[in-house]
This record gives sequence, structure tokens and C-alpha cells, in this order.
Amino acid sequence: MSDCIFCKIAAGEIPSSIVYEDDLVVAFDDLSPQMPVHTLIVPREHHANIGDNIPDDLMGHLFNTVKKIAEIKGIDKSGYRVIVNTGDDAQQTVHHVHVHVLGGAPMNSGSP
Ligand code: IMP
Repeated sequence: MSDCIFCKIAAGEIPSSIVYEDDLVVAFDDLSPQMPVHTLIVPREHHANIGDNIPDDLMGHLFNTVKKIAEIKGIDKSGYRVIVNTGDDAQQTVHHVHVHVLGGAPMNSGSP
């Protein structure tokens, strides 16, 4: 999508702090980190959110990339939180599906 900021990041048209990339996904650090580690994983293909008919293989790859990011960031042993905001009630602000990987320090309650 031409006006999608995450499509532009995935295409290299907007600079970002890339953590990992392959043919299907790109991971980059969040511009406004909420934790010492706050990385976003996005598919290169545009899908608005997790309910947007994402092919199973792409969905699987998206979530399997989480553990790679945790290893790269050195939080795989200490633990981390994975969040996918979906739609208005969840306050999704960028309408290109993305997985937040957060960690690097102890968190408060495990509830949302
Ligand atoms: P959402 O609320 O789940 O949609 O999260 C969107 C996230 O994208 C927020 O945490 C923003 O800080 C982050 N974000 C927005 N624009 C950029 C950018 O250009 N680079 C990196 N992160 C971004």
C-alpha cells in the first residue's frame, strides 16, 4: 500500500533500525520504545491486521520470527512479552499487522 508506513519501512524507503529481515518479514526497533527491548515484526506483504486473511505459512513465519528476535536481542532466556494490537478497541495505530516483542527488564502484572 502506497501510504502505509510499515510497507515503506519494509521496502527500505523509510529509514529504520533493522534487527532482522528475510524474504517474508522485516523486524525493526520501535520508534517509541516502551521497554529496553521493543522490536516490531511485520510481513513484507500488506495485511491490515491479524484478522486480514493472512496465509497460514506467512502467519507461522511471522510468529516463528519472534524467537529469532528474542535471541538476537538477548532476551530469550530472561523472558519477553508478545503483543499484537488488533483494531480500534486495542488501539492499533498502524494498520499493517505487526508483532510487538517487548523485554529487557521485569514487567508488571502479566495481565493486559
Ligand atoms: P500499534 O499501537 O500496535 O499499532 O503500534 C504501532 C507502533 O508503531 C507504535 O509502538 C509506534 O511507536 C510504532 N511506530 C510508528 N511509526 C514508526 C516508525 O516509523 N518506525 C518504528 N516504529 C514506528
